[in-house]
Amino acid sequence: MASASSPKSRPGLLDGLDPEQRAAACAPRGPVCVLAGAGTGKTRTITHRIAHLVRSGHVAAGQVLAVTFTTRAAGEMRTRLRGLGVDAAQALTFHAAARRQLRYFWPQVVGDRPWELLENKFRYISQAANKAGLGTETELLRDLASEIEWSKASLVSPDDYPAVAARTQRDTPAPASQVAEVYRNYEKVKNAAQVLDFDDLLLHATAVLEEHTVVAQEFRERYRCFVVDEYQDVTPLQQRLLDAWLGGRDDLTVVGDANQTIYSFGGASPRPLLEFTRRFPEATVVRLERDYRSTPEVVALANQVIGAARGRPAGSRLKLIGQRPSGPVPRFAEYDDETAEAAAVARRIRDLLDSGVTASEIAVLYRVNAQSEAYEQALAELGIPYLVRGGERFFARAEVRQAMSALRMASTDADTGELVTRVRSVLAKVGLTDQPPAGGAAKERWDALLSIVELAEELASTVDDADLPRFVAELEQRATAQHPPTVEGITLASLHAAKGLEWDAVFLVGLAEGTMPILHADGDDAAIEEERRLFYVGVTRAREHLSLSWALARTSGNRRNRRRSRFLYGLIPEDHPAARVARSQQPKQSGNKARCRVCGGPLPETLDIKLGRCSRCPSNVDEQLLEKLKSWRGERSRELKVPAFVVFTDATLVAIAEQRPTDDTALCAISGIGATKLERFGAEVLDVVRASVGS
Ligand code: ATP
Ligand code: MG
Repeated sequence: MASASSPKSRPGLLDGLDPEQRAAACAPRGPVCVLAGAGTGKTRTITHRIAHLVRSGHVAAGQVLAVTFTTRAAGEMRTRLRGLGVDAAQALTFHAAARRQLRYFWPQVVGDRPWELLENKFRYISQAANKAGLGTETELLRDLASEIEWSKASLVSPDDYPAVAARTQRDTPAPASQVAEVYRNYEKVKNAAQVLDFDDLLLHATAVLEEHTVVAQEFRERYRCFVVDEYQDVTPLQQRLLDAWLGGRDDLTVVGDANQTIYSFGGASPRPLLEFTRRFPEATVVRLERDYRSTPEVVALANQVIGAARGRPAGSRLKLIGQRPSGPVPRFAEYDDETAEAAAVARRIRDLLDSGVTASEIAVLYRVNAQSEAYEQALAELGIPYLVRGGERFFARAEVRQAMSALRMASTDADTGELVTRVRSVLAKVGLTDQPPAGGAAKERWDALLSIVELAEELASTVDDADLPRFVAELEQRATAQHPPTVEGITLASLHAAKGLEWDAVFLVGLAEGTMPILHADGDDAAIEEERRLFYVGVTRAREHLSLSWALARTSGNRRNRRRSRFLYGLIPEDHPAARVARSQQPKQSGNKARCRVCGGPLPETLDIKLGRCSRCPSNVDEQLLEKLKSWRGERSRELKVPAFVVFTDATLVAIAEQRPTDDTALCAISGIGATKLERFGAEVLDVVRASVGS
């Protein structure tokens, strides 16, 4: 292991890391891979590694390029890097990095033919579909657009598409040959209009580096050290760009968690992460298990959620160990309808605020953006400020653009006043009043301007001599990287957008079948597993307070025909009112009161009752494990000379094979397993499960 403090590194920098994190941070330049679970300090480790390499003189800050996947996460990384005093290191999304490189190198390789970025591709997709003889309904266009995005991210050309689609058994939105045709047409119309879509940024940036030696040389002179966060979600296209950046060098640090792969539908794969050492056999590999983010209560739930995942690849079966002091137990709540759910969540948020939790430390996370509306309303009714994420368009807002140009002009003045006062007075000219306007669009504009002032306050508090030109530069950097400021308010965000982030209090809402997991994942095992990982990402965002809720109907008065998410199965504690249904899974005397152990709905059919779940509800049974459990039970019952069901009933074995518990707590959560059974058979059952889960 490398020594903790190199002579030149400033004392203190690595003090905030544990020994494994430090080993990764101090590893010599060259390939490093950190494979670890949520909240174990991966992002913290890489930012410290960058700071350490810079401070000890191994690399200049400007030669470092760190990439991640969401604009928020990139912004978070920049903030952390600035906190460590390495402002000049670049932290961007793959797209932002590619866009910047393309802007820079385009004139050199293409000349002055300009290009524009295509923000909305629907018009072109529609033309392309029409030309291919397909309909242009919104839903079909959306599916075609995602299919084209997947193809580009997977480096599949229109010509290759039909064969690849057949080989990988893709669920194509139209016959594969027609999708290929739409894809081909789309590229044509887009090229004719001289616009590039998001994937083109990566494709062209890669091509420029691969095909132009001079450009590649200049680039490689400039950037020498690469870092990738959330590497489990890299697409073949992004990997190719990364390889073009490296150009055969190996100064690459990657960190990730295969259990948080949530973009496979877009072509991403954890394989490059899991196979990193195959590519770089000499790599320093570090595994982290200590979870510094969440209370042991949240960690236990997270372990249970991911413990139930199927087909986890080797190398991703790490178990988190909570490091924080104990906190409140996660809350579960069922509501009649979504409005009631949102109102209750808003009231609970009010209580948290009253008890001293800061608004920006609270998040409501949902599966699809359309779910935000109910929460916006409920929070507005209680006068609680909120912010809807996906706010990437911040810098495109008219008042923000005006504000930036006013600030830019003012920054050339000789006037040197205190930064925040100057920013306020400049923004007053573009509409920032002392008191907020009543509401609506005017209030939104005002909020946007105020968040610029808050950014100035943030800069003034972290950088001693921050002046207006410095602030303008910071704003411009954020705008290029599309990193909007955080506003003091509750965060409303989709689970996808929440990746890499953390809050003191997290509300996971709308946990009903059809929403979580999303309807179109049903019947597709791989898609269900991706939904489960998304749920896991949600659970692991919480530091302390975690609340999980669902509603049985969409609006009040509607039939309460929704079912709670299958992922909640086995998570709800025994003494919880919502667990009643889970406990009544035993087929015994309860007769018509028996309820489905997956969704909690009533079980009318005898067979359903025996299974303990509706025939509509998905079975999650690991058949191989069930077989192994049965054969273990056979041996035991022969040994003990008792009938098999005395050891465990079929229903219990099925439940074990569904939940695959890997520790006592999870095992006990299964109905039919009390203290006596646990003591007699617990260890053996866990061995069978572990052997099977681990195989
Ligand atoms: P994710 O997989 O969700 O992206 P991560 O592994 O990147 O998580 P971080 O965000 O780096 O985790 O760290 C989680 C939290 O734990 C952060 O608040 C971080 O500051 C804190 N933390 C990490 N390591 C330590 C440590 N050694 N001591 C104290 N706090 C730590
Ligand atoms: Mg992280």
